[in-house]
Amino acid sequence: MVIDKKIRETDMEQQGKVWLAGAGPGDVGLLTIKTRKIMEEADTIVYDALVSTEILSLIPDEKEMIDVGKRQGNHPVPQKEINQILLEKAMEGKKVLRLKGGDPFVFGRGGEEAEVLAEHGILFEVVPGVTSAAAVPAYAGIPVTHRDYTSSFHVITGHPRKDGSSRIDYPALVSLKGTLVFLMGITSLGKICRGLMDAGMDPDTMAAVIAKGTTAGQKNVVSTLEHLEDEVLLSGIGTPALVVVGSVCSLAGRFVWRAALPLNGKQIVVTRPRENPGHLAGWLRTLGAQVIEMPTIRTKVISPNERLCEVMKKFGTCADQEWLVFTSVIGVRVFFQELKHLKIDLRQLLGGPADIKIAAIGAATERELAGTGIFADVVPEIFNAESLGTCIAEKAAPGSHIVIVRAEQGSPELLPPLARKRLAVEDIPLYTTVYTGNDAVTGRVKHLLENGEIDIVTFTSASTVRGFMASFEESGFENMCAVCIGEQTKREAERCMKTSDERNALQILTAEEASEEGILQTICDHFLQNTKRE
Ligand code: SAH
Repeated sequence: MVIDKKIRETDMEQQGKVWLAGAGPGDVGLLTIKTRKIMEEADTIVYDALVSTEILSLIPDEKEMIDVGKRQGNHPVPQKEINQILLEKAMEGKKVLRLKGGDPFVFGRGGEEAEVLAEHGILFEVVPGVTSAAAVPAYAGIPVTHRDYTSSFHVITGHPRKDGSSRIDYPALVSLKGTLVFLMGITSLGKICRGLMDAGMDPDTMAAVIAKGTTAGQKNVVSTLEHLEDEVLLSGIGTPALVVVGSVCSLAGRFVWRAALPLNGKQIVVTRPRENPGHLAGWLRTLGAQVIEMPTIRTKVISPNERLCEVMKKFGTCADQEWLVFTSVIGVRVFFQELKHLKIDLRQLLGGPADIKIAAIGAATERELAGTGIFADVVPEIFNAESLGTCIAEKAAPGSHIVIVRAEQGSPELLPPLARKRLAVEDIPLYTTVYTGNDAVTGRVKHLLENGEIDIVTFTSASTVRGFMASFEESGFENMCAVCIGEQTKREAERCMKTSDERNALQILTAEEASEEGILQTICDHFLQNTKRE
């Protein structure tokens, strides 16, 4: 109990507290476990423009999100105002996550924020993050130190003073002979290169500029100090970007590990129901893609469910053969959750005189059922509602009683094959799907869509398509490809996304097998084909 009390005190359930935390340079895999945990527990998240969309997409919907990276005319919120927000929210008793790109104390103004909090007696913790200064060169194959090349590395701000003058002591830097990493230096790139050369650095020293490091948009330019600026200008490389100067840059061409991943440089939006994260995002990341997880629908469970109660109480006593039909993983979960609420014992459910058969729409639903100790009798070869209906109609004994437990907006295609065989069907809604979205993520994704920076959006049901469209109706989808789990989802995507003008023209693909594995396969084939064509 003492421990319990201590944890509660430290956690400050009653009082406000601020976590000054780093989100890393972009890749979601570089987020620390500690920051990830606070993302779940905080009430308010105050975040910068440098925090990647991929990371924002992990934050639960109900959080208060304050974007201090951009406001009116793309100007960031002034530091004074940010300090004020942190103080106010903490004083209201909120748990505040101040989320910054990279590490909060490496040119992140975390020190200034800590000062203000300390001054006002606000509790705070610092959660260091993976700084871009080391991680971004690493993703370009550049180790910031290497025994054979250099024995130190130095991180320098390239940001000039307000009057435009430089604060950099070039002769001192050159004499260090270490790797130099300039943050915020891209606009002063020419001045930096010249400053170093004027101070005696060899113009042939290798150097690099890396933009949008660790994200799908990463671009590297590796050159010599003398030619770096020209090559950067030619490349049209974007921001944020950092500059690395030192002989270690020569290793970039040898350590090409990131670009070797098959889906490197691809940005993929995975839409899904909030309650069912699935495995697809993880698989895609392993293959090198940047994945924005975007729940577009949420399930609202119908509870108490009187109809379900009524039908389940007499289940197994209505006909010689009775079927229980599941059409989604969520359906299986909700069904058993509701049985628990209704206090219906499995022995009662399955112990009636009837011959009981269980059907599942596909492999994932079958697996979920197996987890509860029930092995489905019927899973159609093609995982869709129509095939499921046909399969049951073929296998069911005449006069069977079929109970379907599924979403209120369940696919109508399931019913005609059953009706043709004159089977008695009870279609019981367990949940409804409602559209959902996180404004912080939606805004960013809209922008990415408009810039043609999203390569693929995946859809695992017709309702995820509708949920997506509810957020992005007005957006253009050029360069984008939609990958759908099956024919029905594809039809919905065609209906919703191909109706307007040319601008919205997009490619729609359907997975051969209606499963997450099938979607993954389709994505890999799609890029492989495109690579061949290029
Ligand atoms: N606290 C951050 C740095 C903030 S200063 C950290 O520890 O990484 C902002 C500068 O960091 C940018 O101007 C750029 O130079 C660099 N930077 C941050 N993220 C970057 C990224 N993903 N790719 C390239 N440079 C990045």
